[in-house]
Amino acid sequence: MPANCPGCSKEGTLTEHLMPTCQLIRGEEIHCQVPKWVCAHCGAAFMSPAQATAGVRIAVTAYQREHGLLTAEDIQVGRHRLGLRVAELAEEAEIGEATIKRLEAGTTVQRHGTNRLLLNILSDETELPDYQITMDFPDFPTLCLPLPSPWEDDKPWNNPGPWAAQASLGAYAFNPKEFALAV
Ligand SMILES: [Zn+2]
Repeated sequence: MPANCPGCSKEGTLTEHLMPTCQLIRGEEIHCQVPKWVCAHCGAAFMSPAQATAGVRIAVTAYQREHGLLTAEDIQVGRHRLGLRVAELAEEAEIGEATIKRLEAGTTVQRHGTNRLLLNILSDETELPDYQITMDFPDFPTLCLPLPSPWEDDKPWNNPGPWAAQASLGAYAFNPKEFALAV
């Protein structure tokens, strides 16, 4: 914190405040609040280099949120979740390492194409494990019991009805209770 106000040179009059500001990013006005030193004596407001950097980060983040782009925090958190170093993420996403460093510093806005490449790697959507895609039922043929030939949909399954007679003639009568036990 500066000791003296650069406006009136008084000592101990400065306090940090969030001040409304408008920053131009890609030709778009971004309204946000950025930290500044304000003098209680003369009312002068100014930014230190650190505050100026913080102000850029705040405006860049606001722009990214407004445009559905990943923020510096999104990228950093996502990268750490995957346990990747910057160089590894750069290689996976086919983006320059320097670009990722700048994005994680929060002082630059990515193009939509770059954002898509990063999203591909950092997205929460995980690929389905192979077994869910190629799962088959090796026992399936044994479950395909033959249907009784005179099949009638209006007959309850647990009532053999006319099939009882056919069963005695050697035809298969389907009984779900037996079926369940067999399985
Ligand atoms: Zn002052």
